[in-house]
Amino acid sequence: MRKSSRWKRHYISKDIAAMAKEVRVASIFSLWQSTDTSHDRFYEDDGKVVYAEAIVHCTGRVTCIRPLYKHVFPLKLAQGSHLSVYIYKTVGGYMEVSRNVESMLIFCHAKATAHIKQMENAILYNQKVSLSVINSTTNPTKMAPACSPTNSLHVAVIGAGAAGLAAARELRRESHSVIIFERGTQVGGLWVYTPQTEPDPLSLDPNRTVVHSSVYDSLRTNLPRECMGYRDFPFVPRNDDASRDPRRYPSHREVLAYLQNFAREFNLEEMVRFETEVVCVEPEGQKWKIQSKSSDGIFKDEIFDSVVVCNGHYTEPRIAHVPGIDSWPGKQIHSHNYRVPDPFKDEVVVVIGNFASGSDISRDITGVAKEVHIASRSNPSETYQKLLGSNNLWLHSMIESARKDGSIIFQNGKVVQADTIVHCTGYKYHFPFLNTNGYITVEDNCVGPLYKHVFPPALAPTLSFIGLPWMTLQFFMFELQSKWVAAVLSGRVMLPSEDKMMEDVTAFYAKRDANKLPKRYTHKLGECQVDYLNWIADQVGAPPVEHWRAKEVHGGYLRLATQSDTFRDKWDDDHLILEAYEDFLRQKLIYSIDLFFLDAKKSYLFLSPLLCRDGRLFLCLVAMGRYIHNLPENIVALQHAMAMLTAKLDDVLRTVGREEFTGRQQRISQVQVWHANVLTTKNKFDDLLSTYEAELQRLCLCGFCSKDLKLSYLYGKNVSIMLTEVEKRSSQGDFDMVVEAATFGEVDEIPIHPTIIGQERMLEKAWTLLMDDGSGMLGLYGMGGVGKTTLLTQINNKFSEISDRFEVVIWVVVSKSATVRKIQRDIAQKVGLVEMGSGEKDENQRALDIYNVLRRRKFALLLDDIWEKVDLKAVGVPYPTRDNGCKVAFTTRSRDVCGRMGVDDPMEVSCLQPDESWDLFQRTVGENTLGSHPDIPELARKVARKCRGLPLALSVIGETMACKRTVHEWCHAVDVLTSSATEFSGMEDEILPVLKYSYDNLSGEMVRSCFLYCSLFPEDYHIDKERLVEYWICEGFVSEKESRERTLNQGYEIVGTLVRACLLMEERKDKSYVKMHDVVREMALWISSDFGNQKERCVVRAGVGLREVPKLKEWATVRKMSLMNNGIEEIFDSHECGDLTTLFLQRNAFVKISGEFFRCMPHLAVLDLSENHSLEELPEEISELGSLRYLDVSYTCVNQLPVGLWELKKLIHLNLEHMIRLGSVSGISSLWNLRTLGLRGLVLDMRQVNELELLEHLQVVTIDISSPSVVKPLLWSHRLVVCIREVDFKYLEEESMRVLTLPTIVNLRRLSIKRCGMREIEIEKTASSSSSSWNKIHTAPYFSNLSKVFITKCHGLKDLTWLLFAPNLAFLQVSFSGQLEDIINQEKAASVENAATIVPFRRLETLHLSALRGLERIYWNALPFPCLKVIHVEKCWKLRKLPLDSNSGAGGKELVLSYGDREWIEKLEWEDQATRVRFLTSCRWHWRATQ
Ligand SMILES: Cc1cc2nc3c(=O)[nH]c(=O)nc-3n(C[C@H](O)[C@H](O)[C@H](O)COP(=O)(O)OP(=O)(O)OC[C@H]3O[C@@H](n4cnc5c(N)ncnc54)[C@H](O)[C@@H]3O)c2cc1C
Repeated sequence: MRKSSRWKRHYISKDIAAMAKEVRVASIFSLWQSTDTSHDRFYEDDGKVVYAEAIVHCTGRVTCIRPLYKHVFPLKLAQGSHLSVYIYKTVGGYMEVSRNVESMLIFCHAKATAHIKQMENAILYNQKVSLSVINSTTNPTKMAPACSPTNSLHVAVIGAGAAGLAAARELRRESHSVIIFERGTQVGGLWVYTPQTEPDPLSLDPNRTVVHSSVYDSLRTNLPRECMGYRDFPFVPRNDDASRDPRRYPSHREVLAYLQNFAREFNLEEMVRFETEVVCVEPEGQKWKIQSKSSDGIFKDEIFDSVVVCNGHYTEPRIAHVPGIDSWPGKQIHSHNYRVPDPFKDEVVVVIGNFASGSDISRDITGVAKEVHIASRSNPSETYQKLLGSNNLWLHSMIESARKDGSIIFQNGKVVQADTIVHCTGYKYHFPFLNTNGYITVEDNCVGPLYKHVFPPALAPTLSFIGLPWMTLQFFMFELQSKWVAAVLSGRVMLPSEDKMMEDVTAFYAKRDANKLPKRYTHKLGECQVDYLNWIADQVGAPPVEHWRAKEVHGGYLRLATQSDTFRDKWDDDHLILEAYEDFLRQKLIYSIDLFFLDAKKSYLFLSPLLCRDGRLFLCLVAMGRYIHNLPENIVALQHAMAMLTAKLDDVLRTVGREEFTGRQQRISQVQVWHANVLTTKNKFDDLLSTYEAELQRLCLCGFCSKDLKLSYLYGKNVSIMLTEVEKRSSQGDFDMVVEAATFGEVDEIPIHPTIIGQERMLEKAWTLLMDDGSGMLGLYGMGGVGKTTLLTQINNKFSEISDRFEVVIWVVVSKSATVRKIQRDIAQKVGLVEMGSGEKDENQRALDIYNVLRRRKFALLLDDIWEKVDLKAVGVPYPTRDNGCKVAFTTRSRDVCGRMGVDDPMEVSCLQPDESWDLFQRTVGENTLGSHPDIPELARKVARKCRGLPLALSVIGETMACKRTVHEWCHAVDVLTSSATEFSGMEDEILPVLKYSYDNLSGEMVRSCFLYCSLFPEDYHIDKERLVEYWICEGFVSEKESRERTLNQGYEIVGTLVRACLLMEERKDKSYVKMHDVVREMALWISSDFGNQKERCVVRAGVGLREVPKLKEWATVRKMSLMNNGIEEIFDSHECGDLTTLFLQRNAFVKISGEFFRCMPHLAVLDLSENHSLEELPEEISELGSLRYLDVSYTCVNQLPVGLWELKKLIHLNLEHMIRLGSVSGISSLWNLRTLGLRGLVLDMRQVNELELLEHLQVVTIDISSPSVVKPLLWSHRLVVCIREVDFKYLEEESMRVLTLPTIVNLRRLSIKRCGMREIEIEKTASSSSSSWNKIHTAPYFSNLSKVFITKCHGLKDLTWLLFAPNLAFLQVSFSGQLEDIINQEKAASVENAATIVPFRRLETLHLSALRGLERIYWNALPFPCLKVIHVEKCWKLRKLPLDSNSGAGGKELVLSYGDREWIEKLEWEDQATRVRFLTSCRWHWRATQ
């Protein structure tokens, strides 16, 4: 109260003091009065601030304020929207009236009964409205009263958090009566920190005890304080309380203190009903019924005109869905229940979400956890990044799945064994108390329908929501939304009609959907927040968002996103801070400021409240003046400091250089960091200095002022900051020591191609092999282009995930030409051993150096692409052992090299599976190309198939095809790849040369020729190893030794070499076949054609559907020709083929081959005509093939061999098998050079057998015995018996042979007995076994090579006990032999010498028994059958038991018991229950059509 005459002062002040909280009497001269009428503060001249609700001028006529409304209210000062009203009273006659009014006004903010309040509200409001009408020049409609301009409502506010407090204040300012329901014990809501958390760490239990706050101990605000606070109550630091946090981004405690100040300031607490929870809100007529529950459990119903919901929305967690999480065994917690990092000590933690809380919490945890991995949905799937500033924090893309072994798999393919998942995945809006009969819903976190996020159209304005939008200036928005709600409730501001509001909501949703934003983003404001806030401000006639505030919030978000670890302590918008505080000053919200940045991080901002009449000017002069006026002086100081710093850097680097040169020392990390920092500082310094001259020009008034104060101020300030920085750097450079014993860098991550497909399995396997406590040595082998380097690269990068376990991971590309020297150099470089100038050390010395360094370290050495053994000792690498824990992994194309490196069981890196190949190809070609025509995908599949899973080919060809968008281009590609793949773009340049390295590495021309020979077979062809070797022998690649066995062994050795070099692949279970990868085959053909220069040198058109012999330009140059597997019917022409050595014509449709054709092939060594089933005749001119060594005419219909054939004296291999029309082979003895002869399927008579005896070089014969007369001569001929490799006994009647006596046939591999009547099979007595009875039979391996036996329709046989002498039998098929009782007869077996030592069928893999009516036993005891894979039994009704027990067949894969009769299996007796259980599960019903 301003001082006035004594009687007035006494009278009025006493009167008011009776009801008011406080009355102050001031002299007109001592009061510094705010000119801003929108605030309630007045300042006394002793510097004290008084927050007054009203001023009563008792100052007489002289100082009267005009104009006055009703002689009481000064219009100029009474703003319609504000409660602050100045009452001016002059005329004594009106004193009584005005005294009542002013008393009531003051009382309104002190203590009053509801009745008086309502009266004062009414009076006040009437006045305000009238004043507003007069005063509202800016926006008359906004300020004009609504239809019922005097509404003063009874309003319930739910929640006393930042939103509820703002709402209550604005409602009361607008004259409503307010009750705030608050279930907590104090104001502040979310900011009331509690160490207590909910019992269910994911807060999924609906019946849990809810803890409201989600604040964690280390939380600091994520907005700068000056823009975070309410507009008219700025959130500025307070130095009147030492416990307060002055930082720009203060801790949560400071926010709570601020809110408490706010509540106290505006007497808000008096409106709060603490510990009272609203449990139900529902409409009651035009009003609202609220049911609340107090802490003592008492429920209470009350009626309110309106309800404002401010219950907060950071309490109900949202949980990320992770596939497989249900079986994942680790812990899970939501950030709502996170308080401190301690529980995560030494754990591997996965944090889902990388926005504010995720980023904060993950950094909080890194201090104690072993590893922290952030999974973020917004990151691209390949994201994998170690975050700066921390050595145990990684950023990933989202989680792909969680597994029950505890691992978490990220979309980027990384796998982490995690202990805990922290879900920082946000919260859900939740209004459990609200009952609007379904009108208001929460769907995917969209609360609706709501007009401008506040009013539900059908329930507006009496129900409203404050604070729903996110990513905005929360407190500021609460304040504006509250003003809007209050003004609408009082009727001062109108809402559109319900329909219009609904239209707006619908349009807003439509826009959201059109922008493809999910519903859960409905309330996200983000970039459009300023527009939204300005829109509401406009509704209530408030000023728009200040320039600095808008800028700060934008910059703040940017910093939060880009520098999430430092944004709270490092910023570059001081000018905005200044602008903000100037603004506060201008509005008299604060009184003066002085800015000090006390620490280097500038994180403290102190305000010192000085009382100053013109605080603003003072501030500017002090703050700016210092920087501007001192600029020249500061620059000199800065230059000097910089010179010192540079000198110090030079000194340090010189010392460091000297020490590091020895290789044994390396600079300490501090020096490294300091060096980098000094360079950065130096750059900044140079930049700053570059504009110094221009800055000087700007100064005026002897340097006291500037033509552009702001720019000069900023420059001067930067100089000052730079000076501090340079001095700081300088002081940081005082090192006690600058180097230490050399340690090594961690893993250098190597970038890999983003489209890696199909290697997950292999990576997992390789990693397990390497890391298991084995030898520590891993060999990866595989053909060129298969992805070995990629796999090793992934292993290298995987080390970075566990970098704490290995001190150094060294990657060395060895390649073909590498020397020990080169490997040493690479290792030395990685471990910091510096070369000593020109005085070169020798290999041994260097090895010693390396050894000395590595033996003390846990290292991993990765050697890529080695071609021969790398002698680790020679290099100086300690051998990896279980004890030292070190690892060595290498890649090579040769399995041999693995062996030489000491890795017995290397891992093969194989080609991709078809679906993986297609996947890789698709990704490389790209969706756009594949989708450009409906036919392209199918053609693309064909092209992909041509690559046969070779990643190199898939990538190169895929890249070539990526730009081909027409069907023609794709068809052409298929054609080229089918007919002459080498012509395909990229093949000759990028694919074949890579593969050719393997060829170049083959030692010797012989091996290379053998390799090239394999390309004569069609694509994907399974080549019989023995046949291949036979070709090689006849071609002369493999030189013949005295014994065939030795020759063959040499051939097999070459096959093995090619297999181990990954140029051939083994096929079939018994690995008796090999195959060539198509792309390798292309490479072989390319080499054979002299890299495409002599395409006709090797003509290979195998399996391409030819109907006739291709036309060639130069037959004379042809060396090899393969036309096998076609449909050629005839050959007539004669060609000069002087160089031709191999001609493959097998598997065609030849009817005739003219004699002319063979005329000019003087060097032909190999001719294969087999399987030309229509070929009936061989021309006599075949005799012209004087060099022929190999001839195969098997499976043809040739009925007579031409006489000319007997001229082929060089022939060593002749195959005449299954020439069903061939009458005789008489004359064969003239082919005296023959070594192998195939005669199976032919009927031989005695004469021919005698001829065979004459072939003295014969080593292998395959033969049929179907005439009793030849049995003895053949089997008794020592000469022939040793040659028999395959024999078929057929049609031998019982009468002619009751007992078949077999001699020792050591080379016999296959034996078949078909439709024979013998009753017994005996083994011929040897010299040492004198007795004829079984019990004297010798146990020598009579049939040591016999692997396949077929017996069918031999009705006289009772047993096959002789099989005891076939120890390597792998396949046994017996059928339709009704008398057979035992496979091995016990009695007979007992008579064998050393019977107890014989365990039959040790190599047996397949046993087929069918239609054996009399069969009772296979063997009398259970047998181990270690190799057995299948037993098939069918129509053997008497066989009641199999020789199996629970240990049988345990050696290999699952033993399958297949049967043809269900009844039989049901009745089968088992050794015991365990056996039954073991085999019944693998029983398969399989009916075979036995005849
Ligand atoms: C971890 C975290 C950090 C944040 N950091 C910032 C920041 O730095 N700056 C910023 O501006 N914002 C920040 N926010 C946003 C913050 O939520 C808002 O700033 C603001 O505090 C929310 O206020 P409110 O009143 O809407 O909700 P709250 O503060 O949650 O208050 C709601 C109140 O309602 C009460 N209540 C709820 N239901 C009932 C009921 N049925 N009956 C009675 N009472 C009830 C509660 O007890 C509580 O007191 C942060 C949020 C989180 C979760």
